[in-house]
Amino acid sequence: MQTQKGERYACEHCGAEIEIVKACECPPVPGKHSHLCCGEEMKKVREAPTAGASRAGAPPAS
Ligand SMILES: [Zn+2]
Ligand SMILES: [Zn+2]
Repeated sequence: MQTQKGERYACEHCGAEIEIVKACECPPVPGKHSHLCCGEEMKKVREAPTAGASRAGAPPAS
């Protein structure tokens, strides 16, 4: 799984967030692309923006 520009990931433990500003160009090798924080994989919190998509995003209430 490669990253795409605009994707955002957050750590559920410390609240850190990262945003992809440059798409990953890793070759599709076995295993997956991941972003680790606090020893666990960060959760994707926003899809990469797609052309024509409307802003339908209310932030998840938590
Ligand atoms: Zn963390
Ligand atoms: Zn990569």
